[in-house]
Amino acid sequence: MFPRNPESTREGRFRPTGSFQSLRFPTETAILGLVNPNEPQIPALLDWSKRRIDYLRISVTDRCNERCLYCMPQGLKDWKEHSEILTYEETLRVVRVAIRLGFRKFRVTGGEPLVRKDVVSFLEELGKLDGVDSFGLSTNATLLAPVAERLRAAGIDSVNISLDTLDPATYERVTLRPLAQALEGIEAVRRLEFPRLKLNAVLMRGQSEDQLLPLLRFAEERGAILRFIELMPVTTRTLLRPETFLSIGEARKLIEKTVPLERDPEAKLGHGPAVYYRTPSGQRIGFIGAMTDLHFCESCNKIRLTSDGKIRPCLGSHLEFDLREILRSGGTDEDVIQLFGKTLGLKPKEHEFREDYTPNRSMTGIGG
Ligand code: SAM
Ligand code: SF4
Repeated sequence: MFPRNPESTREGRFRPTGSFQSLRFPTETAILGLVNPNEPQIPALLDWSKRRIDYLRISVTDRCNERCLYCMPQGLKDWKEHSEILTYEETLRVVRVAIRLGFRKFRVTGGEPLVRKDVVSFLEELGKLDGVDSFGLSTNATLLAPVAERLRAAGIDSVNISLDTLDPATYERVTLRPLAQALEGIEAVRRLEFPRLKLNAVLMRGQSEDQLLPLLRFAEERGAILRFIELMPVTTRTLLRPETFLSIGEARKLIEKTVPLERDPEAKLGHGPAVYYRTPSGQRIGFIGAMTDLHFCESCNKIRLTSDGKIRPCLGSHLEFDLREILRSGGTDEDVIQLFGKTLGLKPKEHEFREDYTPNRSMTGIGG
């Protein structure tokens, strides 16, 4: 099935004309929007299938100090030259334009964002922008403790930390870092009372089963939300084998053997695709099932800015648009807006992971 025509859309349900209707931009404070050409009366930043898009996930680096098997396996050298990576000034310019368009949620990620030089100063600048309602950081936490106070002061209100296992030997084997370093980072987030801490664990058969309950207890003791994530074919497809893939349904059943879980339909923690449950003690657990949850994409509210300056409307599609070229060739903010419009106009209705999707770049390159 691949390579696909990047301008094509699934099932022919939408036939882009190539021109996207932008509403007028009357004032800096009005709701600005690029709308479905067929329904120009809808005053919001919608993609063509009427999903409200207000979340920009920003990757600031494609490098990392860990080597998670499913993301950046040892030996993979997929990173870009420094000159190819957007400067902080370029990224801030994109964020300002995104705010004008109605984006309100921003999350900085990577690769590991904290490996990039001066990233804390960048985050401080980002936190000062008017219009950032939700400001998150995704990190493996190994470099977090020394900078946690500055990050809290910068206004970061949501920290997502990867933690697949509490077994030190497994953690070190999988990531090449000591678990203790990540735990220090988690402890700093707890101590400084960041408004929201989420622990994200990617599910892998043979490795996750005996970690489900320990992770649940660990999260509960720290007031963290725990989320289990199904493996996706983002860097490689080779791990999506029955011997390694563990579905969210199986993980939930394993937990329910010991702890009853009740669906928490009200929980909209971050408006993402996670489905939330509660334990009898009120602990929240999210399940992110890109592979088995057929409703996964219905509530998608985000697009991605890759570290090398591409706008990517969907993690699970090769489609991306070159923003860096616009930024570096004297393009105006209006040119940037037009590219956002094109991106929303062509955002795939669903990811292609369940089809025979072959990743075209690593997860770190795109930004997780
Ligand atoms: N380094 C940071 C971290 O580990 O949280 C931020 C970047 S990382 C790419 C963001 C998220 O993507 C992590 O929660 C990670 O577990 C997840 N991830 C990476 N590769 C994945 C894969 N193949 N399938 C599912 N989740 C993946
Ligand atoms: Fe690095 Fe995060 Fe990917 Fe692990 S999941 S290799 S920590 S970017």
